[in-house]
Amino acid sequence: MSTVLTDRLQSAKQDAIRIIDSDADAFSEVNRAIWRFAEPSLLEHKSAEQLARLLEENGFTVTRGVADMPTAFVAEWGTGRPIIGILAEYDSLPSLSQKAQPEREPIVPGGYGHGCGHSVFGTACTFAGIATKQAMARAGIAGRVRVYGCPAEELLVGKVYMARAGLFNDLDAAISWHPADKTQVSLGSGKAMVSVHYTFAGVASHASASPHRGRSALDAVELMNVAANYMREHVKEDARIHYVITDGGIQPNVVPPSASVWYYIRADRHEDVEAYLAWVDQIAKGAAMMTQTMLVERKIDTDCHELVPNRAIADALDRNLRLVGPPRFSDEEKEFATRIRATIPDAPEGPALNEDIAPLSTEPRRGAGSTDVGDVSWLVPTEQFRVTTQANGCPGHSWQITACTGTSIGEKGGMVAAKTLACTALELLADAGLRERAKKEFQERRGGVPYRLLIPSDQKPPIPGNAG
Ligand SMILES: [Zn+2]
Repeated sequence: MSTVLTDRLQSAKQDAIRIIDSDADAFSEVNRAIWRFAEPSLLEHKSAEQLARLLEENGFTVTRGVADMPTAFVAEWGTGRPIIGILAEYDSLPSLSQKAQPEREPIVPGGYGHGCGHSVFGTACTFAGIATKQAMARAGIAGRVRVYGCPAEELLVGKVYMARAGLFNDLDAAISWHPADKTQVSLGSGKAMVSVHYTFAGVASHASASPHRGRSALDAVELMNVAANYMREHVKEDARIHYVITDGGIQPNVVPPSASVWYYIRADRHEDVEAYLAWVDQIAKGAAMMTQTMLVERKIDTDCHELVPNRAIADALDRNLRLVGPPRFSDEEKEFATRIRATIPDAPEGPALNEDIAPLSTEPRRGAGSTDVGDVSWLVPTEQFRVTTQANGCPGHSWQITACTGTSIGEKGGMVAAKTLACTALELLADAGLRERAKKEFQERRGGVPYRLLIPSDQKPPIPGNAG
C-alpha cells in the first residue's frame, strides 16, 4: 500500500473506533432489546427487524427474507468492488431464559434466552457495518460493505441455505466473531455435520391380542440405532454420531405404526460425513427389511461444512484487536462475574473476567462443535475471533452466559468486537495485497474439493410451523 493509502486507512480506523464509542448507549439499547426478545431459531422476527431497520436508517439497502427465510437479510452500502461481508447472528436457545443477575432465576420459566450471547453478537456486527460505512465515506475508501443477517445458527441452518442461494459468492472476504470468556483470534476449525431424520411405517395392531398382525416401526428405529452403535467401532476417531427418537409410538398396547429417529453425523471432513451418511442410510434400509416395515422418509434438514481457516485474515484481525485493545471491566462487573463463577462447579483458575488478549494461535483448533460459518468459509476467505463477554469458565449454552450477555459485561466485549470488525473490514477494503494473500491461501487450503451440499436443491428451510 502507498503511504497515502496507509495514512488514510489508519485515520479511517480511528474514525470507526470513535463512531462506535460515541454510539455506546444505542449499542446497549439494541443489545438489551434483542436479549429481551430472545427469539427461537428461524422465528427471530423482531430481532432481525431491529437490526435491519437500524442499517436502513443508516443508509444501507436492505433485502429482507432472503433464501426463503423471513428472518434472514442482506444489508449493503457502497458501489463496485471489493465487497466485504460481516456475518451477524441473533437467535437464542430453549430453557436458558435468565434475569441479568448472578443467581439462577428465569424471566420466563422454561423460556428462551441468549445462552450463546447472540444478542450482542448481532448488535456488534451491525454497529461494525455502520461504522465501516461512515469511515469509508469520509476517507473515500472504495467498495461495498455488507452485513448479513444470518438466522438459526443454533440449528446450523441460516448460512447453509444462504450459501445455497448464492448470497456469499461475490464476496472478497467475510469476517465474524463470537462472544466468549476470553479474547483471542484463533484459526478456526470445527466439524462438518449433517442433520437427518428417518421415518419408518409399520402396521398397527393390538400388541397383546394380535401381535402377529402388527409390524413395529419402533423396532426398526431400535435396530437401526443398535447397528449405528456397532458402526461406531469402525469410523475415524474424529467422527461423532448421535441420535434422539422423535416418535416412538403412543402407548404400549398399540404396535407402533410409525416411528422416527433424528441423527447428527459429524466428522472433521465433509467427505467423511458424506461416507458415514451413506452407511447410516444402508443401516436404515436394513432395519426396515429386518422388521418388515418401510423406510418412508429420509430427510436432511441441514448439512454444514467444517471451517476453512485463513491465516492472512486472522493476522489482520489480531492486529486490529490489539489496536482496539481488550475490554476492561469495573470492580462491580468483576464482582458480578465472581458470583457467576461461584455457580460453576469446575470453573478454571484465573481471573473472574479475562482482560488480556491471548496470543494468536497459529494451529487450527480442532473443535468438537460445528458452525454454519463453515459453509461461508468454503466459498470465500473467512475468519473469526472471540472477545470476552462473560465470566471466565462459563459453560457453553448456559444460563450464566444469558445473565452476562444482558449486562455491561457483554456490551463492553461487544464494543471491542464491533471496533475490531470495522477496522478489519476497512483494512480488507483498502489493502489489495491483503485480499490477494487471503484469496491465495483460501485456494490452497480448499484444494480441488467441490462444495457439495447434501440438502435437495428444492427443499425449503425447516421453519417451525411450516409443513414439510
Ligand atoms: Zn453461538
